[in-house]
Amino acid sequence: METAEKSFLLRKKRIGIMGGTFDPIHFGHLIAAEEAYCVLNLSEVVFVPTGNPPHKSRRQVSFPEDRYIMTLMATIDNPHFKISRIEIDREGPSHTIDTLREMHHWYPPGSVQFYFITGLDAVLELPSWKDPYSIIKEASIVAVTRPGYSIERLDELPEAIKRTVVLLEIPMLAISSTAIRRRVAEGSSIRYLVPWNVEHYIYKKSLYIRDGR
Ligand code: NAP
Repeated sequence: METAEKSFLLRKKRIGIMGGTFDPIHFGHLIAAEEAYCVLNLSEVVFVPTGNPPHKSRRQVSFPEDRYIMTLMATIDNPHFKISRIEIDREGPSHTIDTLREMHHWYPPGSVQFYFITGLDAVLELPSWKDPYSIIKEASIVAVTRPGYSIERLDELPEAIKRTVVLLEIPMLAISSTAIRRRVAEGSSIRYLVPWNVEHYIYKKSLYIRDGR
């Protein structure tokens, strides 16, 4: 590679895009984003709560606005965390490729490298997403894993996708949104699993109890 091209690449802004339903956001997500920020030398991490997840027809998902507000409250005290309404405000299903293409237009051509950060379980489904091979051209994929999760499962991915995946193991991801929703429905404590303001928001809006989830 030519030296000029190399130095241009080194000057590229490295931005993490933290994609998730965040129903609700918890400390596992926040620690994963902070770890990605440090390990990948990112300039910022943009949280992108999904609008209408195309793959979530079987389970009722909380209103996008509630998930957005919880994500905003959880990230507000971290100067290198940002949040985007790009998927919340988009009509129709949330496709990652549409988000990445739109976000690329926010920056001068070629000046940014995106790192799309999400859970390994979600990444394993990537071949079934809209335009998977375009996604891996628009961003590097960062798969966040829970401890003890078998990373050999990455072999399930087509080689071209697997090559672009960076793995990050986060012990605190033992917390899951599913477990938090279940605990709220059972009346168990979620203190220290989510930021205090998210906990208060969940109770104030009676999330996860009204529909018997
Ligand atoms: P999900 O199926 O709800 O989650 C799969 C697993 O990944 C869960 O264990 C989840 O844990 C974890 N996870 C989700 N987001 C995470 C994050 N940012 N950091 C760490 N762990 C995370 O997945 P989802 O939240 O609906 O979707 C994840 C992302 O993939 C979203 O940005 C979504 O838009 C994208 N996606 C795109 C398409 C498409 O373009 N067609 C299809 C599917 C997904 P928790 O439950 O604890 O969060």
